[in-house]
Formats: sequence, structure tokens, C-alpha cells
Amino acid sequence: MNISDNLLTLADGNKMPQQGFGVYKITNHQEFSDSIKAAWESGYRLFDTAQMYENEQFLGEALHNLQVPRAKTFITTKISEANQGYNNTIVSLKASLTKLQTDYVDLLLIHWPINTEFFDTWRAFEDLKKEGLTKSIGVSNYGMVHLQYLATQAHELPVVNQIEVSPYMSQKPLLKFHQEHNIVTQAWSPLGRGKILNDPVLVELAQTKKRSVAQVILRWHLQNGVSFIPKSTHATRIAENAAIYDFELSKSEMAIVDSANKNHRVSKEPELVYEFGEQYPY
Ligand code: NAD
Repeated sequence: MNISDNLLTLADGNKMPQQGFGVYKITNHQEFSDSIKAAWESGYRLFDTAQMYENEQFLGEALHNLQVPRAKTFITTKISEANQGYNNTIVSLKASLTKLQTDYVDLLLIHWPINTEFFDTWRAFEDLKKEGLTKSIGVSNYGMVHLQYLATQAHELPVVNQIEVSPYMSQKPLLKFHQEHNIVTQAWSPLGRGKILNDPVLVELAQTKKRSVAQVILRWHLQNGVSFIPKSTHATRIAENAAIYDFELSKSEMAIVDSANKNHRVSKEPELVYEFGEQYPY
């Protein structure tokens, strides 16, 4: 198995690469196309953007310039808080598709739960899927309570919940809930945004494995069965993060990574975003 052929099957029957490439905060045009080229050459096929990242047009252009067959790529985008609501969701996805230079995305996510438009946005998602403008529909930053609330009116349930997961924020109870409800967990900031790479316990484990800390963490995600989307703009790190298919962590090594958990978030508490209606102040 390698990064390109490692696919998960979603509850709707569609396949999704388990490992993808995140592009948050890559806003320099040249750096963006160089990063996508390096990621493609290292075997990444899933590219994760969002309306809020303001780089959908760079992704569309970079993939177009690489002359990559559309069917071989998996593109995710996310509807921002400001674009939630039935009509806004539809209009804004169409604008995103133009920027991405494609007729459909593979996965459309609600970026954060907000208390207004909660059901209307999802109703738009269900209709967009029926129209073929997205292959799969999911959410991001939803807690158990948001998923259960959504289920009271949804005709189709999210097949993915993209949430913050790292060794410092392992979210085991939510992962278990996802598993019980056939929702794939997708880990954002899988490397804790790079801030956990000096953790002494993880450094020691990486030394015994003769691997980098990043590789050990990503291998932990892989063996946990979650999807994960690390970001880097350095070709060597992009390749390093993909080279995790030739070693394994034992049960006790997995437990060492588990033990690093601190319930520490790099971003907002989803319940607050739900109440305030946006990722304030960002
Ligand atoms: P990440 O955990 O992927 O960490 C990225 C940082 O780690 C890099 O900027 C770099 O500093 C460092 N790094 C990466 N590989 C390394 C290596 N091999 N060696 C040393 N350092 C390395 O953090 P992220 O970018 O916040 O998250 C990944 C992706 O998740 C984003 O790009 C975005 O696509 C997505 N995301 C989604 C949400 C959401 O609300 N849905 C929020 C944040 C991020």
C-alpha cells in the first residue's frame, strides 16, 4: 500500500484517499503551485481547500497546469459561515467550482456549525449532491450534539466529519461515535500545526523508530483508521509525510502516542463558533 492507492470507502459508497494534502495558509501563488506539484509527485491525490482559505483559484490553476486527469484527483472544499443558508450555499459553491476549474467537488463540507441556517445549509448540500455538483457531503468541526441534532431533519447523514485531531487533541470519544455511525473522521492539523513536533515523548519514540516525529504521528493517524490532511510547503517534508507506508507502530507504541493527549486545541471550540456564528476573532 502507498499514499495513492490507500482509499477509504465512505458510507455513500464513494472512495476517498485516507491521506490528503491541506492547503490552509498557503496564499503565495508560486509557493502554492510548487507545493501542489510536489504533493502530486509524492502521490497525494486528495487536496483540501475552503472558501475561507481564499486559494481555491490557485488550486484550480495548479491542477490545471499539471494536466492532471480530474478523475484521478479528489477535491474538497468547505462552505464558509458567511455563505451558509440554502441559496447562499448553492450560489457560493458554483463560484467555488468556477475557481477550482471543475464541474464538481468530490467532497463538500460545512466548515463550522452555526446556530443559524443549520438545517437549510444541509438541505442545500443534499440537493447539490443530487445535482452532481458534489459527489459526497459532510461536515467539519461538528460535535456529537451537532451531528445528533442534524440527524433530526436530515435525509442523508454526513459521511465525513473533519475535526481537529492530533496526539495533543485525540478526541477518542468523538472518533468512537463516528465509527458507530459510519462517519469517516478526517483529522485537520494532524501534526498539531507543527507545534507538537518537539514533544519529548514523541521525539524519543521517533528516535527508536528511526523516523521523523511527523512520520510517527501520521502513522498513528493511519493506524487509527482516520483520514488525515497534513500541510507543508517544503518538497522534502511533503515527501517525508507521504513516506509512512513502510513501517508500523506496535500496540504499545500506539499507546505511547495516545498518552500524549492534553485536550489542547489549536483553534476554536466548536460550541462557541456555533453560538457566535463565525470563527471570531480569527
Ligand atoms: P498541520 O498539523 O498539517 O501542520 C502543518 C505545519 O506543520 C506546517 O506548516 C509545518 O510548519 C509543519 N510540518 C509539516 N510537515 C512537517 C515535517 N515533516 N517536519 C517538520 N514540520 C512539518 O496543520 P494545518 O495546516 O493547520 O492542518 C492541515 C490542513 O487541515 C490545513 O492545511 C487545512 O487544509 C485543514 N484544516 C481544516 C480546518 C477546519 O476547520 N476544517 C482547520 C485547520 C486546518
